[in-house]
This record gives sequence, structure tokens and C-alpha cells, in this order.
Amino acid sequence: MARPLEEELDALKQQSLLRRLREIESQPGTAMTYAGRQLINFSSNDYLGLAGEAFLRDAAKEAIDAYGVGATASRLVCGTLSPHVALEEKLAAFKRAEAALCFSSGYATALGTLGALAGKGDVIILDKLAHASLIDGARLSGAVLRVFPHNQVDKLESHLQWARKEHPQARILVVTESVFSMDGDRAPLAELVEVKDRYEALLLVDEAHAVGVVGPNGRGLAERLGLSQRVDIQMGTLSKALGVSGGYICGRRALIDWLINRARSFVYSTAPPPALAAAACAAVEFLESAAGEARRRRLWDNLKILATGLPPGLTPEKLQSAIVPVMLGEEAAALQASKMFYDNGFFIPAIRYPTVARGTARLRLTLSAAHFPEEIQAVTSALWELVR
Ligand SMILES: *Cc1c(COP(=O)(O)O)cnc(C)c1O
Repeated sequence: MARPLEEELDALKQQSLLRRLREIESQPGTAMTYAGRQLINFSSNDYLGLAGEAFLRDAAKEAIDAYGVGATASRLVCGTLSPHVALEEKLAAFKRAEAALCFSSGYATALGTLGALAGKGDVIILDKLAHASLIDGARLSGAVLRVFPHNQVDKLESHLQWARKEHPQARILVVTESVFSMDGDRAPLAELVEVKDRYEALLLVDEAHAVGVVGPNGRGLAERLGLSQRVDIQMGTLSKALGVSGGYICGRRALIDWLINRARSFVYSTAPPPALAAAACAAVEFLESAAGEARRRRLWDNLKILATGLPPGLTPEKLQSAIVPVMLGEEAAALQASKMFYDNGFFIPAIRYPTVARGTARLRLTLSAAHFPEEIQAVTSALWELVR
């Protein structure tokens, strides 16, 4: 007989792997209230500080007044409202793609898209550090799966060679992120594009942590490298730097039409609330503006302040995104460090197995354009304290 859940939970606790929810009592922003205490938040994905912005709230409120709260049906029935259409047009232009399609979450985007593009007899090749949503989507698709070591293009190429030989008729899909969610580093996109073209594979790049952060006006890494037209499937979320909620795919019109017909998480799910689409549209508009670009630059100024103050050894030598992993190794060490920061007034979560591999536990410190230089200096002092 299977062990009772209580015992399983207890085992997790013994291994420092138990997780629990924490109730945050404050507005989005760098100052947060948790358990009645004031903390400086270094854990959110609200990289530009947009989630609490008045102009996003206003966009959502106006849409609620005009369209109500719920979308009342799936997108294919009567759930496609004007804010959805406006957002998709805005996103396609922003990502310099023919068309875009929005989903209720990034997770649903990955599940629906991979399942629509690959099936039995096809091959999906993933970077080892690809996000859980991409792994789950790949598994659910029924395609043959292969994993290449993180960012190792030569290893990817061996898989491509194998796939072309063993599965000559297959659709081959290479899946990676542009900025990796738990490591903050970037994919070698130019090399990936070159190799996937040679094997006539399709490339899906998840820009969840690059949008709003990397490239002109935060258009992402593909645009930064001039590769937007060569990435077949551009994925992203509306829930991180854009400060709202939802996910999207950008690409050719035929890709979007195919997803409308075949992505199950799109077809069989109620459309996202129109107010969220309106708020996301306002967020993209902001990114395109001079004020948006200035905000993104402020994030990079903040990253510079952080980089100059960091103690050596714990963090990557070069910061390539707003995500700064503080590598600790043991699960218990990460928990203890997180507690130390908490006691000193900072909120920085410990990231453990199964989010990252066993023995690679870390703190995941994220920076925002909204942080004040003094807050950043305070957290670097605490990091030096941790080293001691
Ligand atoms: C957060 C994240 C997702 C999921 O997006 P949600 O909108 O939170 O569901 C997908 N991919 C990556 C790389 C992510 O970091």
C-alpha cells in the first residue's frame, strides 16, 4: 500500500524540500508586508515594477466597465472580445511577427503549443534547463523527447543528426528559453538558429524572462540579435515584466491559425478576462514608449549597482538578466540563507529540487527597476554577511 500523504510530507520536511504558501498582505512593489513584517522584496518577476502601476489598473478598470469581468466562453465560441484582438495585434507588432495568440497563462501556452505542433512520430529536443511548462508540454505531446546539456549546441546537433536519420518524416522541434528562469543566463540564439536551419527543424524560444528586460524596448533576445524572423515560434508571458497575467505565441499567420485550431489549452478553456488583455495591451504600449525604454534602462542601472557590490564566488561573473542566482548547493543551506535574509528584512526565496537539480539549491534574487539604490546596497551588504 502507498504511504499516507502525511508521511510523504514529513519525508519532504526531513529533506528540506517541503514547500508552503505565504500570504503577502501588501501591494506589488519592492516594499512588502508578510506576517505583519516589512520586508524588501527581491523575489518577484515584476522586473519593471508595472504590476501596481496606475495606468495598468486604469486600463483594467475601464475594460471591466466596458466588457464585464468574465469572458463568458472560450475564444472560439463568444469569448474573443475587442481587448483580446487589440492585444494580439499590439503583441504581433511589438514582436515584429505576422500574428500573435494569447493564452490564459504561460504554462497553458507551452502545453497547448507543443501539443499542437508535435505528436507521435515527431521529435522534441529540449535544453536541459527548459522550464517545467515546456517539459510538461513536450511530454504530453507524445513526441519522442531528447534533452541536450544546457546551451551545448554541439550536443544539440548530435540529437538533430540522430533525429533526421531515425525519423526522416518527423517534425523536429527544438525548445529553449532565451533567458533561463533559475540561472538568469542566455541561450546562444544565433548558433541555435544556424543549426536548426541546417536540419530543417523548428525552433521555439520562450522569452518569458527576456521580454521587457532584453533588447530594444524590451522586445527580447531574438530581436536584440536581429533573429526575430528566424525563430519559428516566439513564446512569452504577460505575467512577468509586463506585470499582468497570461502567455502568448508570436509567429507566422499559419502557425497562429494552426494553434487556434489545435492548441487544446486554447480551444477548451474560457478566454482570459478582457480586463487582463486590456491591461497587458497597456503594458506593451508602455514598453514601446520612451518612458518604457527609460524604465528598462533603470533596471539595467540597478543591475550595475548590484554587480559592483556583489561578493565574488556566489553569483555569475556577468549578470545577463534581472535574475541573479546565489548558488548554495545543499537544500538546507539555501533554506538557512533565505531565513537569514528574512531576519534581516529581505524576501529572497530558496529554490530547491525539483525546480532545480538536487544539490544545486540557491537563492533566486531578482531585481526590479523599482528598487532604490539604497535597497540594492543593503542587500549586497547582507550577501557579504552571508559569505562570512
Ligand atoms: C513563468 C514561466 C512560464 C509560465 O508562465 P505563467 O504565465 O507563469 O504560467 C513559462 N516559461 C517560463 C520560462 C517561465 O519562467
